[in-house]
Amino acid sequence: MPGTAVAEHELSAEQRLERGEELRRQGIVIRTYDLWKSYVMGDQEIHAVSGVDVEIKRGEYVAIMGPSGSGKSTLMNLIGCLDTPSKGLYYLNGKLASEMEDDELARIRNKEIGFVFQTFNLLARASALHNVELPLIYAGVSAHERIERAREALKAVDLQKRMDHKPNELSGGQRQRVAIARALVNKPSILLADEPTGALDSTTGVEIMALFERLHSEGNTIVLVTHEADIAMHAHRVIHIRDGKVERDEAISKRN
Ligand code: ADP
Ligand code: MG
Repeated sequence: MPGTAVAEHELSAEQRLERGEELRRQGIVIRTYDLWKSYVMGDQEIHAVSGVDVEIKRGEYVAIMGPSGSGKSTLMNLIGCLDTPSKGLYYLNGKLASEMEDDELARIRNKEIGFVFQTFNLLARASALHNVELPLIYAGVSAHERIERAREALKAVDLQKRMDHKPNELSGGQRQRVAIARALVNKPSILLADEPTGALDSTTGVEIMALFERLHSEGNTIVLVTHEADIAMHAHRVIHIRDGKVERDEAISKRN
C-alpha cells in the first residue's frame, strides 16, 4: 500500500479517532501503518522492524514466520504493547496504541492481549488454578468470580482434573495448557503466542497446535510467532518476515 502510510501520518488527532472507529467497525483488531523499531548500537542503527503494514481481523489465525533475527520478537512486542515503535502507527482494537504512555499501554495490554510463551512463565509455587487466576487479580475481579472463571478456563483446555497441581507436578504440555488458560481467562481480543511449542517434544507440540485450532474454531483470534514452517502451516494465514519487512502474506487453504 504505497502512499497510505504517509497519508495516515498526516491525519489530525480527530481523523485518527475516526480511523480507529472505522477499523473497529470493520473488525480489524490489529492495524499497523509503516511501523518501525530501530536500535542504535554504537555508531550503527539497526532496524529490527522496518516499515511494516499489517492488518489482522477478528477471528483470524495468523502465523508470523521468519528466520532468527528477522524481527519476529520485536514485532510481537510491538503488537503485544510490550514495547513502543520508533516510528509509525499501531491501532489495537481501534485504539492508537503507538501514541500511548506506559501506564495506558499496560492497561490496554492486560485487557486486550493474552500471552503464551515458549517457556510457559508460570509461578512455580502456585497451583494451576492460582496461576490462571492471577490476571483476574490484576484486573480487580472478586475472589468468587475469579475462581469460577479460572475453573472455566482450565476446563476449556481439558485440565479440570489438574487444577490443584503445581507446575512441577505437570508435564510440559499440561504446563503450556495452564499458560493458555491463563492467557484466555480475561477474554482478550488476541491470543499472542511466541514459539509456543519450542520447548515441547513433537507429539506434545502437535497436541498444543490442535488446541489452538479448536480455540480458533471457537472464535478466538490467534497470532502465532514461529521460525518453523510446519508449525506456521497450522495457521490459516502466514505472514513471512525477513530483515524486519513483510516479505509475503500467504493464505493457507484448509481442506477437510
Ligand atoms: P527474531 O525474534 O526474529 O529472532 P528479533 O526481533 O529478536 O528477531 O531481532 C531482530 C533484530 O533486531 C536482530 O538483528 C537483533 O539483533 C536486533 N535487536 C533486537 N532487540 C534489540 C535490542 N534491544 N537492541 C539492539 N538490537 C536489537
Ligand atoms: Mg525471537
